[in-house]
Amino acid sequence: MSGARILRYGVPPPFEFEAPSSWLGRLALAQGCSLEEIQVFLDIHADVDVDQMMYGKALAELRRRCSLPQTAFAIAGSVMAGLEKTGLGPWSLATTTRGTPAFRYCPACLRRRSTPHLDIHWRFIDWRYCPLHNCLMESVCWQCRTPVCYPQDMALSKAGRAGNASQRRCLNCTADLAAAKPCLVNPATSSALTELEACWLLNGRALLASLCSGTARYRAEGVGTAALRRRVYQEWLPLPQQWLRVERRLRSDRSLDNLVRESVRLRPREELKTPWGSVISLERW
Ligand SMILES: [Zn+2]
Ligand SMILES: [Zn+2]
Repeated sequence: MSGARILRYGVPPPFEFEAPSSWLGRLALAQGCSLEEIQVFLDIHADVDVDQMMYGKALAELRRRCSLPQTAFAIAGSVMAGLEKTGLGPWSLATTTRGTPAFRYCPACLRRRSTPHLDIHWRFIDWRYCPLHNCLMESVCWQCRTPVCYPQDMALSKAGRAGNASQRRCLNCTADLAAAKPCLVNPATSSALTELEACWLLNGRALLASLCSGTARYRAEGVGTAALRRRVYQEWLPLPQQWLRVERRLRSDRSLDNLVRESVRLRPREELKTPWGSVISLERW
């Protein structure tokens, strides 16, 4: 690959909601080279949060260097441009305790994907549940408790060496992440949540909608509006420690098992509705 200025072959098309860091891992696999080589080629420093910086000129350059269409990463780019505009800061994005960019994941979403990949909104700490499957997002591998971090050199990981280089696998222990038992919770109907906790879940979803539309205000059903920066003072969104207590309670609450048969609300793809509830017109980008 060295010497080539533009990648024309072996470039996997990004999925509509995929995060650039997820795609970079898949790109290295498809190119049969190391992640480091890919990062050097694309002038992406290994210590930056590639999802956070991939919008505007940086995204245009990525598309050019990898022969990607203008719609590639349109949603990821819009969300991150929105994050920059609101001034919410990088602390809205999930990281490990060491500061490494991390994802949360929905096991049911991963199970349905023929090519496993990770969505841009799975990077946000306030995206706490999957509205498609009404379950809490998982933060770590259900088997070894390792966080899900990308970009990573999947081929060099334990899963890759075992022939399971896939974003559906824990790269540390090779467990199938889609096999995690979902913690089902529906903010619209669940009696396991207080009204405020249900609002927190819905507001997290609304936050993504507002970032995507580039506005500095957000609105959740029946909740009203608030300036994003006032989140702490007005309790529109919880502090991480506040939510940790809620999540611990929910995950040990056996009454949640009664919610297993709650209906799964899947939306037809052709509606072009985002998982965070707004309708997207790709022409805007
Ligand atoms: Zn899901
Ligand atoms: Zn694991």
